[in-house]
Parts: sequence; structure tokens; C-alpha cells
Amino acid sequence: MKVGILGGGQLARMIALAGYPLGLKFIVLDPDANAGAAGLSEHLLGAYDDPALLAELAEKADVVTYEFENVPAHVAEFLSSHTLVYPPAGALAVAQDRLLEKNFFRELGIGTAPFAAADSLADLENAMADIGYPAILKSRRMGYDGKGQAVLRSAADLAAAWDSMQGAAAIVEGFVDFQREVSIIAARSPSGEIAYYPLSENRHRGGILRIAECCDKDPAQSLAEDYVRRLLEKLDYVGVVALELFDAGGTLLANEFAPRVHNSGHWTIEGSETSQFENHLRAILNLPLGSTAPRGYAAMVNFIGGLADDAQLLNIANAHLHLYDKVPRKGRKVAHATIRTDSEAAYRAGLQQLADLAAAADNS
Ligand code: AMP
Repeated sequence: MKVGILGGGQLARMIALAGYPLGLKFIVLDPDANAGAAGLSEHLLGAYDDPALLAELAEKADVVTYEFENVPAHVAEFLSSHTLVYPPAGALAVAQDRLLEKNFFRELGIGTAPFAAADSLADLENAMADIGYPAILKSRRMGYDGKGQAVLRSAADLAAAWDSMQGAAAIVEGFVDFQREVSIIAARSPSGEIAYYPLSENRHRGGILRIAECCDKDPAQSLAEDYVRRLLEKLDYVGVVALELFDAGGTLLANEFAPRVHNSGHWTIEGSETSQFENHLRAILNLPLGSTAPRGYAAMVNFIGGLADDAQLLNIANAHLHLYDKVPRKGRKVAHATIRTDSEAAYRAGLQQLADLAAAADNS
């Protein structure tokens, strides 16, 4: 079987690494000659919407998946009409637009921060009467890692925040005073079987994920599973999804979902019986899903902008290094490390050491 992937970055790389033991072959479409998955797959070098390359991808792959959600609608449509594409194009359409996404959560009875559409400065001013300060203005489309966002602390911030959207349609959201950010990763197969991972507790800085910790038997697990199940079933979803939630005093509010494998699930590579990457492949190939049971304590630390010394990192007991084969650049995710152990004390100590190395290497 050959799996096609739109995008050849680190997520595609880790999908391919998980697929080799299953005897799978891969073909990626990516405009970067040095794409991280290129060495592990046949590489179609060119634009994501190049008609000839898309036709070749559809022709050669038994199933096509993707590693980013901003796949143009016409590309998803073209691929879907020529081959199997999972997750389905309908999930992309919702995840690409923060307003559709928040309305979708509301329709499913999943809590969110108060929100309103803002297509003009006048809309924004009107909406603030209901939303209240502080709030966040976000572009509806093409936002990730906190990009295309402005914090609103008072009416004095509105005009500049609106200008920063450069005319793009936006959504304004009330600022959630959360205790923590969590995500739930789940996989669904075409038969409707669903596997849920333990919650990840996620720490961000500057809008970028830094640390994700596996939270086994978390009190919020069953509500998070209920929310993600509603989403998966409504979208007739196939593959791995990540639902990001704010935990505000026991109330879970959905922020967004990613229709793909997710950075907050990288600890599953060593920390779970079956990784999110393998379960994504099992789901899209209609194979039985693997156990998501945690293997002791597990966490992941991102390396952003710079790398640690390999030997120093690997000298930390129970640590594992995952390099993305990317040239370090300010703000760029270049690697992650995981820690997995049965000892809580060793876990705490190792996680702190990894976090210190990442902080020292960080130039984001
Ligand atoms: P996003 O691009 O929507 O994932 O936002 C990036 C980060 O900004 C989130 O992980 C939160 O830390 C923060 N954030 C986004 N929306 C809100 C909100 N409504 N209230 C509080 N913090 C938020």
C-alpha cells in the first residue's frame, strides 16, 4: 500500500516512520527540496495546487492524507474525486475557518468562549458590548501558533487591532481565564471505531506549544472524550484528530481542532502503546486501531529555533530525541524530545532537564 501525504514536514516524516514497520510506502507532495519526509518517501517537488503533481499523487497513492489543514478546498475536492482522502474534506472546511469552527462546536453542544464575527471595525465595536474585555481578535483563516491575533484590553485597542487584520474577516472571542490548556487526541476508523488517548496538558509561550504532558486518568477525560466523539461522528471523520480545550475550573471550552496528527500528541511515540502516527495510518487504511494505553509517565518538549547538544540530551535517563532534519531558524520547530518512565521522580527530574535544555536553545 502507498500512502500519499500533502506536505512533507516533520508530521509527514513521523507518519512515514510509523508506517515502515507496517510495510507501507509513502509519496509526499511538498515544494521544499529539503522537506523532512523527502528521504523517507517518493517526493513530488512542487506547489500543493500543481494540477499535474496532484494528478500523479492521486494516481500513485491508495489513500491520501495531509499534515496541515490549510489545504485549498479545490485541491481537497480534486483529490477526493480521484482517490480516497482521509480525513474528509468537510473536516478541513470547518477547521480552516475559526467562525465556522466555533459555530460547529456550538451546534454540537460543546462549550466555547463567547464569540462574534467581525467583518469591520463597526462590527467589532458592536460585538464588544456583549463579549466584554479582555478579548482576542483572530483572523478567521490561516491562523496558527497565535499568528493573526491581537489582544483587546480596552476600547482604545480596537482600531489598531482591526488594522492588524489587514481587512481579513475576523472573529472576536472573550478571553478565557483558564487554569490549564489540554487537548484530546482520538482516532476514528471508517467502521466508526474510536480510540481516545489520555489527555495532554499543554504549556504554551508566545502562542507556541512548548511542553505537552500525558495526563492519565484525568478528571476531565470523560467529558473531553464525549466532546471529541460528537465531533468525529458529525463529520464522519476518519483518521486522527486533536481537539484543543481550555480547562476553566472544571468547565471545558473548545478552542479549535486540528484535522491531523498533532504536536501535543508527540509523547505518544514512546509514551503510548500505539502512537498517534501509527493509529492515524491504521484508521485511514481501515485496519484495527491500536491500544492508546499510556506506558508510564510521558511528556514531550519542543525545541524551537535551536537544538541542544545531542549527547547532552541523550544522557538524560529515559529521554528520546526526534530531529526533524530542519535548519534551525528563529521560531521554527526543529525537534522534540520525549521522556517516558515508570518512575514519577525520574519523570519529573528528566522533564525539568529537557525543559532547561529547550529553554537554553530557544531563540523564538
Ligand atoms: P490559537 O491560535 O487559537 O490556538 O491560540 C493560541 C494560544 O492563544 C492558545 O493556545 C491560548 O494559549 C491563547 N488563546 C487563544 N484563544 C484564547 C482565548 N479565547 N482566551 C484565552 N487564551 C486564548
